[in-house]
Amino acid sequence: MEVPQLENVDIAVIGAGAAGLYCTYRLLTGLDVDGNPKNVSVAVYEARQRIGGRINSVKLHRNSDAVELGAMRYLPNQKIINSLVENVIAKATDAAATDFEFDSFYHEDGHCLRRPLSFEATESTTQCTSSKNGSRWVGKSIDGILETVVSDVLMADGFSLQELRNDPSKSHQKWNEMTQTLTYRFTGPYENWLLNNMSLDQVLRDQLDKETYEFVRRYDAYDSTYYSSACYGFEVCVEDFTHNTKYRTVKGGLGIAMRYLEDEITRVGGKVCRGHKLHAFVKNRTGASGYKLILDIAPRNTRREVFAQNVILCIPPRGIELLDPSSHLFAKDSSRNGFLRNALDSVRRIPGIKLYLLFKEPWWKNSLGRKARTVTDLPIRQSFYLPSEEKFGLSTVLASYVDMDTCSWWQNWQAKADDGNGNKRSRAYQSSAVRCQEQGYEPANSFVVEELIAQLQQVHSEGVDVSRPVMAVYVDWSWKPGAKGWEVAPFTRRPFLDENIFIAGEAYSDRHGWIEGAFCSAELVIREWFSMRAPEWLDEEEEPYYLGW
Ligand SMILES: Cc1cc2nc3c(=O)[nH]c(=O)nc-3n(C[C@H](O)[C@H](O)[C@H](O)COP(=O)(O)OP(=O)(O)OC[C@H]3O[C@@H](n4cnc5c(N)ncnc54)[C@H](O)[C@@H]3O)c2cc1C
Repeated sequence: MEVPQLENVDIAVIGAGAAGLYCTYRLLTGLDVDGNPKNVSVAVYEARQRIGGRINSVKLHRNSDAVELGAMRYLPNQKIINSLVENVIAKATDAAATDFEFDSFYHEDGHCLRRPLSFEATESTTQCTSSKNGSRWVGKSIDGILETVVSDVLMADGFSLQELRNDPSKSHQKWNEMTQTLTYRFTGPYENWLLNNMSLDQVLRDQLDKETYEFVRRYDAYDSTYYSSACYGFEVCVEDFTHNTKYRTVKGGLGIAMRYLEDEITRVGGKVCRGHKLHAFVKNRTGASGYKLILDIAPRNTRREVFAQNVILCIPPRGIELLDPSSHLFAKDSSRNGFLRNALDSVRRIPGIKLYLLFKEPWWKNSLGRKARTVTDLPIRQSFYLPSEEKFGLSTVLASYVDMDTCSWWQNWQAKADDGNGNKRSRAYQSSAVRCQEQGYEPANSFVVEELIAQLQQVHSEGVDVSRPVMAVYVDWSWKPGAKGWEVAPFTRRPFLDENIFIAGEAYSDRHGWIEGAFCSAELVIREWFSMRAPEWLDEEEEPYYLGW
């Protein structure tokens, strides 16, 4: 492994995920507020042998298309990622942005029902059939119910959903502003509660009759949204989980964007050091300013020291927790440790699992079309049937994509390969085991695969035969972090003004679960504390882009 011989840097960035690569790229290629290049040395240190963090586009098999083990799409109003891909990467390379669109089908009582294209459900679509006398929800689609609840709650406190929708480019800022005051104005146990202190689940239980509530919950794919703050959940309900949301992605995988950033960093003289895990950092004792970083170098089990004037930690809270407790600011006896840890602990952890199956034939093609998404109340919850180019022999299904509670269901099945003493039995599914291990993926075991096939078979009508997959991959992202509030977000960017230690990343942003959150948080750190100006490609001349809390 090549180890760069760089011992001193102005800025050390820790973690080469979206936030770390973006910070490094911007500091090295952007201009400061006076219009000058920063002229600083910047290196990014990444624990793993691959860059991208929770963006991981891979070809699971040489005969299959690239799939996304982590992030897979973005929204049209997320300006940094859209502009970076379209105004920068697509102009400099062959990469292109493309639509990420899937027809959705809901599985109900053995039938696959087409998702309504209109706000009101029609007879042939999934619709609420609550038997409660006079229920106003009967005949409505899930989208219709959620949108009506959001609209009612906003209106009761003097806000209008329509007004928010009139200017999509401003809507995230408006949601953020509302979060601090929006109050629940309905009689009952939550009367006059700040919506930010309620979960979406509480609002729905209060607003809907039991059957309607169960109908909505049964067919929604992500548990985490329901346990999030109602304000965040509202924004997701009307801007993300609706039938007319148009997602975007990068053709060939989002990893292309990460590789572009890495190439640019090295082209302009920055360093991307893979296999460099930050073990600890201490304040320079020699009287000089700055910090000494102690890095574990894989796979050689050696240590390396680097001196940096500034440290930008672009790692999620779990990564910070795992730093050696001797680390500056994090030492047990440091009076500042508790304060900082409390802020970091406010980031909620959201486990997530993706299960991929590769098939010789796209057996779903005749019933669902080339690409589709199904949602069911079975533990697979949501599946994506991915289009595959003819030249690739294999077709891929993201057979199950779940978060929160449903994760433990799959974790239990996957753990059954354990003999009880912590030893893995060779129960990985068929030939898949060897291929997965060669490529460094965790193979799904036979229990999991049999369950996936059985549940997919239930989702599809009797005329469709789910064939046996040739490969099965289990991807567990249990430490995917979640929400961060306005109360702590600005503080975490630079916890102590007398230290040059900064923190960035999606976990510390107000767009959790989005790459845009990682980019916005990084952009805030470099603008607030490194005097950088907005990049030209973001086209902010007429109107600044709102970066969040
Ligand atoms: C299953 C899943 C699906 C998702 N879907 C979407 C989606 O469709 N659209 C979307 O926009 N977003 C999605 N996201 C979220 C998106 O992936 C993240 O918001 C974003 O990638 C986070 O970037 P980050 O840089 O903040 O953190 P990370 O990507 O977690 O990067 C942190 C990096 O730091 C490294 N690191 C940790 N500790 C150390 C250390 N001590 N020393 C050195 N390096 C260290 C890690 O290895 C990692 O590379 C999804 C996430 C998951 C898990």
